[in-house]
Amino acid sequence: MALPTDKEPAVRPSNFLRQVIERDLEQGTYAGRHWGGTPGDAAHHREGAADPAKIRTRFPPEPNGYLHVGHAKSICLNFGLALDYGGICHLRFDDTNPEKEEIEYVESIKDAVQWLGYTWDAAGTRHLYQASDYFDFMYRAAEYLIEAGDAYVDEQTPEQMRVNRGDFGRPGVDSPYRSRSIEENLQRFREMREGKLPDGAAVLRAKIDMASPNINMRDPAIYRIKHAEHHNTGNAWCIYPMYTFAHPIEDALENITHSICTLEFEDQRPFYDWLVDHLAAGGLVNTPPPRQYEFARLNLTYVVTSKRKLKQLVDQRVVTGWDDPRMPTIVGLRRRGYTPESLQLFAERIGVSKADSWIDYSTLEIALRDDLDPKAARAMAVLDPVKMVIANWDEIMGAGHLEPCSAPVHPHDADRGRREFMFGRELWIERSDYEDTPPKGFFRLFPGNKVRMKYGYVVECVGASRDAAGAITEVQAKLVPDTKSGTPGADAVKVKGNITWVGVADGVKAEVRLYDRLFSVPQPGAGEKDFLEELNPDSLKVVTTYVEPSLGRAKPDQKFQFERHGYFVADRKDHAAGERPVFNRVTGLKDSFGK
Ligand code: ATP
Ligand code: MG
Repeated sequence: MALPTDKEPAVRPSNFLRQVIERDLEQGTYAGRHWGGTPGDAAHHREGAADPAKIRTRFPPEPNGYLHVGHAKSICLNFGLALDYGGICHLRFDDTNPEKEEIEYVESIKDAVQWLGYTWDAAGTRHLYQASDYFDFMYRAAEYLIEAGDAYVDEQTPEQMRVNRGDFGRPGVDSPYRSRSIEENLQRFREMREGKLPDGAAVLRAKIDMASPNINMRDPAIYRIKHAEHHNTGNAWCIYPMYTFAHPIEDALENITHSICTLEFEDQRPFYDWLVDHLAAGGLVNTPPPRQYEFARLNLTYVVTSKRKLKQLVDQRVVTGWDDPRMPTIVGLRRRGYTPESLQLFAERIGVSKADSWIDYSTLEIALRDDLDPKAARAMAVLDPVKMVIANWDEIMGAGHLEPCSAPVHPHDADRGRREFMFGRELWIERSDYEDTPPKGFFRLFPGNKVRMKYGYVVECVGASRDAAGAITEVQAKLVPDTKSGTPGADAVKVKGNITWVGVADGVKAEVRLYDRLFSVPQPGAGEKDFLEELNPDSLKVVTTYVEPSLGRAKPDQKFQFERHGYFVADRKDHAAGERPVFNRVTGLKDSFGK
């Protein structure tokens, strides 16, 4: 993949992040920096050539679950900004926490980023990193802080530490260990590293200001003892850096310029700056160091976007897995029929802001429809089939005759050709298209009414048979001769109803999964509620349907607009062309949310 440095910035609505980046580019804030070819300390980067990236961003997931639509926003934002400004975006696994990571998650995250249309390869380099590779440097940075008198080993109990931290109205109290000598701190920290202390016996803390109005600046813990195996470093370490210490260092080693994160990290920014500025001043990391910028996380109505809650849905078998089409995970959205372009469009439309808000689920669906409408092939499908028999067909057309009919694959693109299917004596129609006595405004099938069978003939409805329970078993009709669509004089008979159908002779039986929202309330789990008690009991209905022959040849993942019904996708997992066609409803033709 070519480096997109010479790409013109796309015309996109501006936002505060774009303004920051444009200002930095204009002022040349990072223009003089070098890049050592791989992440590293200041000396390493000094050896390299001028950084080919005008800016560097990163997407830093913790590999402890599948990514969801909120992460998709962050991916589009970070990779998108890099593309627009001649930069490079890194994919970094934030795996500094031992025990939790699983290979399955690492692979799924890589897939998700690539599927969304992005790559971490740029300028011939693979910018795929693991934070745990930086443990050695992090340790060195910690010793540097101790030596500079900026960190100390605290051996108060966790409870004492909590009490002495103070709160919003009360300044903290210095730990009795705060005034230890540099030598003692160094020795004790090395003992921590050598495994001489049990979990929780001590922590390394930055020495900043116990009276700071920002509690995060009251000597935050930066290293803790944890006798645990790490998936990457094994048992090399029994002390691990805290997230707030690790993350700024990861950014600094990778030459990140703009470290974009969600608002809950706003209060951490002073410590982020404190740390990278100290390390830069000490010559340990490249200058000028990265800066952190916060935006409001995505909250989407009718879904949950917390990995913990999503995991509960999977573990308790509320859904069939992480890729259940009702899940807001990227694998779930993909299987549901969402396209990378629709998610990019969504991310662009919602933009970024500093204020928390809820985005209506329909915004996501509208982006999807806008993307699918020009792309999706059209097809006819009957979702609740009942047979219609045309009594005079054999008499007029000849016994057993099948009349070939066709329709455009796409109404606005004749080049995409036509789909073909057969009209005959027996057709499948929607049960709801028939009424004995038509309600006001009903123009479809009722005795005496003429309708057009779309792309076929006009028929006149005669009546219907019912079973003992009153359910319709068959609708009867008569053919109106010489009315075949597209033939001269076909329009002589005026009708108000246009009915979709599938031929009994060539229709293909298919399973259709009618998905609906997973939760019945816009903000599941809000207030005191348990989100698991707010599930929509009708989020999935499986029906047996008949679909036109072109759908029998559909490939997994192929998307269609079923005329009158909405958008559908051949299921990635279960669809087998011809043998067992399975389609998922992606979304209806119109917005049904918020109604
Ligand atoms: P969760 O709370 O669901 O577990 P997380 O924030 O802990 O998510 P990470 O793996 O740390 O998950 O997230 C990686 C990146 O994705 C972070 O930079 C984070 O800010 C961003 N991100 C996560 N959730 C959202 C969201 N809802 N909207 C926007 N960005 C998000
Ligand atoms: Mg996180």
